[in-house]
Amino acid sequence: MTKKQKVIIVGAGIVGASIAYNLSKENQDVTLVESHSKAGCGVTSNSFAWINPSGRVPDNFQHLYDGSLAEYHVLEKEIPELKVDWNGSLSWGIPVNSHKSYIEKITRQQVSDLEPHLREYPKEALYAFKEGAVDPNILTNLLVKKAQENGVNILFDTKVTKIKKEDAKVVGVHTSKGFIESDVIVLATGTAIPEFVSLLVLIFLLSHHLLLLFV
Ligand SMILES: Cc1cc2nc3c(=O)[nH]c(=O)nc-3n(C[C@H](O)[C@H](O)[C@H](O)COP(=O)(O)OP(=O)(O)OC[C@H]3O[C@@H](n4cnc5c(N)ncnc54)[C@H](O)[C@@H]3O)c2cc1C
Repeated sequence: MTKKQKVIIVGAGIVGASIAYNLSKENQDVTLVESHSKAGCGVTSNSFAWINPSGRVPDNFQHLYDGSLAEYHVLEKEIPELKVDWNGSLSWGIPVNSHKSYIEKITRQQVSDLEPHLREYPKEALYAFKEGAVDPNILTNLLVKKAQENGVNILFDTKVTKIKKEDAKVVGVHTSKGFIESDVIVLATGTAIPEFVSLLVLIFLLSHHLLLLFV
C-alpha cells in the first residue's frame, strides 16, 4: 500500500476549498489551514459569481475554460445541495470577445422573453447561453463541509507564518498555533501568495548563491 501524503492547503477561499474537496476523494492526509474564523473571507466573498467560460481567451487556453465549465456540471451531480443558475448572460452595445460556440445573436423579442423587466430594449443582443452564476460563499463553504465529511482536517483562526525547508525539501509550515509537518504544501492564499513565493524565491536564491560559493 502506498504511504499517504501529508498535504497542507493554505487558504480556504474558493481555490483552497476546491482543492481540499478534490483531494479528500483521493484518500490522502489533508489539512486545510485558514487565518480567518470561516471559509471564503478573502477575494472570494467579493466575487461577481459569474461562471463565464468565454471572454478574451487565447485559443490555447480555451480548453481550460471549457474544462472548468464542465467541472461545474460534474460538481452539481456530486453535491446535490449546490445550486447553479444556468441562465446565461446578455450583452449589447459593447464589444464581446466570446468564443462563437458560446454565443448566439438574439432579437429584441427574445431579449424581452429572457428579461421581461428591462426599461429599454436593444434591437438585438448576444446571448451567452452556457454561462451561469453561483453564490461563491455558499459554494466555498459547501466544499469545505464536504471535504471535512471526507476526513480533511480544517483549522480556522490559524495563520501560516512561515514555510519550513530542510535541505532542498519543504517539510512543513509554522503557524500561529504551532508547527505542522507536511510532505506537500499547496498555497491557495490568493493575493497573499507573494509573501510566500518571495520567501521560496529567497530560499532558492540563497541556495543557488551558496552553491555558487561552494562549487
Ligand atoms: C469584484 C470581483 C468580482 C469577481 N468576479 C468574478 C466572477 O464573476 N467570476 C469568477 O470566476 N471570478 C471572479 N472574481 C475572481 C474570483 O473572485 C477570485 O479569482 C477567487 O475568489 C480567488 O479565490 P482564492 O481562493 O484564490 O482567493 P481568496 O478568496 O482571497 O482566498 C485566499 C484565502 O487565503 C487565506 N490566507 C491568506 N494568507 C493566509 C495565511 N498566511 N495563512 C492562512 N490563510 C491565509 C485568506 O484569509 C483567504 O481566505 C472576481 C473578483 C473580484 C475582486
